[in-house]
Amino acid sequence: MPELPEVETTVRSLNRLVGGLKIVDVWSNYNSPFHKAKRNIKNPRYFREFKKQIVGKKILAAKRRAKNILINLQSGQTILVHMKMSGHFLYGVFKQTAAGWTADKLIRKNDPFSRFIRLLFKLSNGKHLAFSDLRKFAKVFALPTKSIASHPDIKKLGPEPLAKNFSFKKFIDCLLKKPNGKIKQVLMSQEIISGIGNIYSDEILWSAGIHPLSKVGKTPRPPLQKAWAATKTILKKSISLSGDSASDFRGINGRKGGFQNCHRAYRETGKKCRKKGCAGVIAKIKLGGRSAHFCPVHQKYYD
Ligand SMILES: [Zn+2]
Repeated sequence: MPELPEVETTVRSLNRLVGGLKIVDVWSNYNSPFHKAKRNIKNPRYFREFKKQIVGKKILAAKRRAKNILINLQSGQTILVHMKMSGHFLYGVFKQTAAGWTADKLIRKNDPFSRFIRLLFKLSNGKHLAFSDLRKFAKVFALPTKSIASHPDIKKLGPEPLAKNFSFKKFIDCLLKKPNGKIKQVLMSQEIISGIGNIYSDEILWSAGIHPLSKVGKTPRPPLQKAWAATKTILKKSISLSGDSASDFRGINGRKGGFQNCHRAYRETGKKCRKKGCAGVIAKIKLGGRSAHFCPVHQKYYD
C-alpha cells in the first residue's frame, strides 16, 4: 500500500503536471454492487453526482493529508483519493479500446500494474489523468473543500511526522496513547501518527534497534529518540527517491520509485543484517495479519 512518501511523490507530480488545467470529462468503470448507496465513485449513482460536481472545473492544487490525496478545484470542491492497496495515477495520452484504456508510449504498456485503468479524467490540454487500480480497493469521492478537516476520514488522523512541529516530545506523547501496544502496530496506526505503514515501520524500527513487538511503554527513551529521528530521515529519503515500488506503486509517469533498493529489513528475510558489526539475519514474524521484518540480534525486545 502506498505510504506517506508514495502519496507525497504523487501529489508533487500532480501539482507539476495538472495544476491549472480544467477537467473536461471523467470516465469510470469501477461499478461495484458492494458500494450501493455509498459516497464513493464505485457506486454508479454517486459517480453521476461526482461527474456533475467536477466536470468543467479547474484544478487548483493537490495536497496530502496522511495517505490521502486532496485535489482542490476552483469550484470549492475537493476530490479525495485514497489509493489503498494498488491505486496510482498515470498522466499521459490514453486510447479507449475494446480491452479498456491503453497508454501511449510515455507510460510503459507492459507494466502489469499500470494496465487497470478504472478512472480517467480528460483534461483541457488534451491529455489524461488516469487511475490504475489492480485490486479495486481505492476510495474516491468529492466533498466541499471547507469541510475536509471535519470529514470522518480526515478528522481522526494523527499528526504528520514530517511537520516541523513534530518534535520528539510530540512523538512520545502520540505513542504513549497506547502504552501497552506493540510498537510496530502503534507506529502504523493512522490515528496515532499518520502516513506510516508496513514498509516504513519495519525500516524505522531496524534503524532504531527496537524489536517490532516491543511494548511502547516499556521502550526506553534513547531508542525511541532514534526512532523519532529515523522516521524523519527515512520518510524524507524515500520522497527524494520518488517513493517505494517494492509492490505495485508507480509514479505518475509510470516509472518505479527507488526506495525498494534501500531496504534494510522490509522483505529482506534470510539476508545478513546490514548494520555495521551485527551478525544477525533478518527474520519475519506475523503481526496482526501483516508481516514484520526485523533483525533478532540488534533490535532489542522491551517488555
Ligand atoms: Zn542486526
